[in-house]
Amino acid sequence: MRLSTITNWAYGATVLLTLASGTTMLMASGAERVERAAVEQRARFDQLTATLLEDSYRQTEQARTFSITADPTHVIAYRREKAALRSIEHRIRLLQDAGATEGELAALRDALHWADALTDEQEAAIRAVTDGNRDAARTILFGDEYGRELDRIAAQIGKFQYMLDQRTEAAIARATATARQWRTMSEIMLGATALLFLCVLYFILKQRILHPVVRLSDVVTRLAAQDFAAIPPEFSHVDEIGDMAQAIRIFRENGLERQRLEKERDADRIMRDLLSRMTQRLQGCDSSSDLVDVVRWFAPEIAPGFAGRLYIHDARRNAMRQACDWLSPVQSKEEFPPSACWALRRGQIHRPAGNMIDIPCDHLGEPSGVGTICIPLSAQGETIGLLYFEKPENIIADQIERTEKYLEMLAENIGLALANLRLRDALREMAMVDVLTGLANRRRFDMTIEEEVSLSSRNHSPLACLMADIDHFKRFNDAHGHDAGDAVLKAVGGVLDEALREDGYAFRLGGEEFVLLMPGFSLDQAFARAQQVQNRIQKLRVEYGHQELGPITASFGLAVYPDHGQPKTLVQTADAALLRAKAQGRDQIVVATVRDEMSARV
Ligand code: GH3
Ligand code: MG
Ligand code: MG
Repeated sequence: MRLSTITNWAYGATVLLTLASGTTMLMASGAERVERAAVEQRARFDQLTATLLEDSYRQTEQARTFSITADPTHVIAYRREKAALRSIEHRIRLLQDAGATEGELAALRDALHWADALTDEQEAAIRAVTDGNRDAARTILFGDEYGRELDRIAAQIGKFQYMLDQRTEAAIARATATARQWRTMSEIMLGATALLFLCVLYFILKQRILHPVVRLSDVVTRLAAQDFAAIPPEFSHVDEIGDMAQAIRIFRENGLERQRLEKERDADRIMRDLLSRMTQRLQGCDSSSDLVDVVRWFAPEIAPGFAGRLYIHDARRNAMRQACDWLSPVQSKEEFPPSACWALRRGQIHRPAGNMIDIPCDHLGEPSGVGTICIPLSAQGETIGLLYFEKPENIIADQIERTEKYLEMLAENIGLALANLRLRDALREMAMVDVLTGLANRRRFDMTIEEEVSLSSRNHSPLACLMADIDHFKRFNDAHGHDAGDAVLKAVGGVLDEALREDGYAFRLGGEEFVLLMPGFSLDQAFARAQQVQNRIQKLRVEYGHQELGPITASFGLAVYPDHGQPKTLVQTADAALLRAKAQGRDQIVVATVRDEMSARV
């Protein structure tokens, strides 16, 4: 019930009780008035009848004294008393006016009638005295008959007074009882009104206002301090306090929602910062291994709890090969063909388990009940890799949805970085290759020699360097044209490329000069390999324009570490040996000497 309804009911009840209480007070006051009137009537009756008997006795007394003394003053006194008794008629009227009943008045009249008769006898006695017959007067006044008459009058007046007393006593008793009754009722009504008022006050103030307001105030204070653990109390009654509690509950729910959104926004900002930082690091990667390090570091941060693997497409073998993993994934093979993954086939994210029921990929291996996510990495429509994730247990759907959004952004960034790296690698590779012969060029040679020299120096491992220069190459150009010269260069380059394969490196340094680097080759092994090369060049038959070009020969200078000094002077030493080969008549292999090494050092 609403407070206003309770208050209205209580107000109505209080008004009714107050009215009833007022009425009973009026009734009590009326009864008291009746009581007072009865008492007053009785007092008046007492006053009017008190001297009646006395007056009668006094009149008899005066008459008797006169009969004994014959003193006329007593006759005067007697006459005065008689006149006073005569005024009793007047008293009867007054008594009648005061409310005496007919029965009572009849009793009084009888008494007065008998008193009149007595007065007649007194008059007769007075006359007898006046006539000088005192004895006769005394006989009348002191006779037994007179005494009996007097007693009868006294008895009748007594009876009259008794009747009056009886009636007025009863009236007073009735009026007193009624007045007491109304007073008691009035007091009860007043008490009930006060009690009701106090109960309503207690109930409304304490139970329905004070207690709930104190509890609500505590909750509001905590909510204002952003403590949303404070839960507004549930009030079963529907009233203004209940409305307040409901409003506070809505306020709390709004606060919680706002806090949740703020948390989400903060988490999103942190995640985007992380993604942006990862993108910057990816852009700074020089190699695939740099990229793999960045992915291994950032992926568990961006998708906490998600174990995963990064696969990079190996174009030569057309296979997806694992580059790295994190948080120990339990499914998916380390290498598999692209066709084994539905994400790669469709070029879309694929979730074969969990809520998104779908066909599992072949590369997952034995099913383990783990939810998996495959995200293809592609650039310019070409598949270049795959990001594979395993969902952590007990993760809620909302979190998966949010994380997947970041995983897609992660995949996009990694895909772009991987594509850039590949493009850069391709350009670098192109810059390191001699277009005409397909051999590595001078730039690659400079890098490789530096690496190999430092490796040999560190490990004291042998390193052979064979410098080669086509003999009289200029003549091919001069005799058959530049293109014919190019054909010769290609053929010789082919021989040098074939000569080592996996055992070493072949470079075209420029013009018709070549070099072979043979790590781990002793002098003898290197010399034997140089001879093979020399023979194959000698046997080369190059045709240009249906015309066979003349015999092709080359001169070689061979230097080997540790036989011919330090690794860092190896190239110059070999070059010096080559110069000697040219000087000694060409088409020969000259092994470096200490002098070559010394001249190289200079
Ligand atoms: P030598 O036996 O002393 O080495 O004599 P050579 O003629 O081989 O040496 P020289 O240094 O006199 O001539 C090299 C020539 O190679 C000069 C240049 O025009 C030519 N040449 C350089 N690069 C190329 C090229 O890429 N293609 C062609 N066709 N000729 C080239
Ligand atoms: Mg040359
Ligand atoms: Mg030459």
